Amino acid sequence: MSNHLPAALIDSLEGLSGFNRTSFEQVHTAAEKITSLRLNPMKVRTAAEQENILSSLSATGAQRVPWSTTGYYLPQRPSFTFDPYFHAGAYYVQEASSMFLEHAVRSTVALDRPLKALDLCAAPGGKSTLLQSLLNSNSMLVANEVIKARAALLADNISKWGAANVVVSNNDPRDFGRLPGYFDLVVIDAPCSGSGLFRRDPELVTEWSPENVMLCSQRQQRILADVLPALKEDGVLIYSTCSFSKEEDEEILDWLADHFELENIPLEIPDDWNIVTTVTHKRNCSGYRFYPDRLKGEGFFIACFRKRSMADTVKRKEAKTAAIGAKERELLSQWIQLPEGYTYQPHQEDILILSSMVSSEIAMLQQHLYIRKAGVKAGQLGKKELIPDHQLALSNLLVDQVPVIDLDLKAALQYLRKEDPGIDTTVRGWALMRYEQMALGWAKILPNRMNNYYPKELRILKDISGL
Ligand code: SAM
Repeated sequence: MSNHLPAALIDSLEGLSGFNRTSFEQVHTAAEKITSLRLNPMKVRTAAEQENILSSLSATGAQRVPWSTTGYYLPQRPSFTFDPYFHAGAYYVQEASSMFLEHAVRSTVALDRPLKALDLCAAPGGKSTLLQSLLNSNSMLVANEVIKARAALLADNISKWGAANVVVSNNDPRDFGRLPGYFDLVVIDAPCSGSGLFRRDPELVTEWSPENVMLCSQRQQRILADVLPALKEDGVLIYSTCSFSKEEDEEILDWLADHFELENIPLEIPDDWNIVTTVTHKRNCSGYRFYPDRLKGEGFFIACFRKRSMADTVKRKEAKTAAIGAKERELLSQWIQLPEGYTYQPHQEDILILSSMVSSEIAMLQQHLYIRKAGVKAGQLGKKELIPDHQLALSNLLVDQVPVIDLDLKAALQYLRKEDPGIDTTVRGWALMRYEQMALGWAKILPNRMNNYYPKELRILKDISGL
């Protein structure tokens, strides 16, 4: 062992592009903690809102992440649990190097077109929320996670982000073979041996071994081979890991170039970002290495390809979609400002709000995938009223007439703990609870008390009395 890093890891990195043993070891010994977040452009629209959020998190000022339009470094780590903006989905706490996905997507994909994008290994949702912010509202993101419990977490994070053009699925990569030639963009942020995160999470080191690197490499190949048929001809594949090992990085690029008709896409990257370009010996593929001793971020690897082979196309069966009646629509219009092209769709007891592409694709997707969540759940329609869902509160689709109650920090945290903050209000019935204009959830105000509808499973458990 050298510092806390396995000697076998360090030895295996010798000779790799950009690897410097001394500074690599030093940066791991120093173990600086870097905190970064990405703002949600759908919720944080003005410079004043952005300033409010960032200054509430860091008195001394946040710094831009160079390769991200919405990413910021914070000088120290605040308690996100006690920040209502965090629970409102105003930002996502994301490791800075990962935010480079934005540059990779902008450099390779025509984002003004209606696109179908797949984030195959998506939980907990860092890359998916980023992709959602990049895609236009006529595009659709399928955010998939194979592990059921992690798919639930992904769905919660997507709900918090608030978009109606995302579908969350819970499938094995091989299930996507049923959707040949379907996606314009496939992102694979592959499960890996995790050495890129050793500075941040030193306990991960105990799980590292050369054997595990090989297992990860084989799994990555399996995942890629399984999902590639689902990519359209001329579609873009973006592959990333948080491993430094060449078996999971450069060797995967060569394997892809050897086995599939994929054209590697080199990216233009400003020198002062200090990202290392690595070109594979065998097939001349460019990939990008992020070293924590060279830039402000954790270890990361990313590469882009364009599919050059003909792809089959998915066979579409006629599928009926249910519609809601005029009366229900009238009731919903008292709550919801439906953007053009968006539709309502009944699903079991609920009404869903779907973006135009999700609405035209969902029946077909349901035939092939296990769908956990589609669009935004508006709520349940009773005879006379809508019982609004938490997803609707966080969606930015509400009409201005919905009654609101603005909470100060203490009351907002009490609300998020599912307590009654004891508000003095003339509002009666359903009310949107907000903090600094940012929606947190619903409450129903009765003459003598408030029923707090914040989801039990999301509530803050930590004690707030000392704040
Ligand atoms: N993209 C996520 C983000 O930015 O928040 C992080 C993804 S993490 C690096 C890899 C994900 O792949 C994990 O959620 C893990 O559960 C999932 N995974 C594990 N084994 C898998 C497999 N065999 N096929 C597909 N995904 C797998």
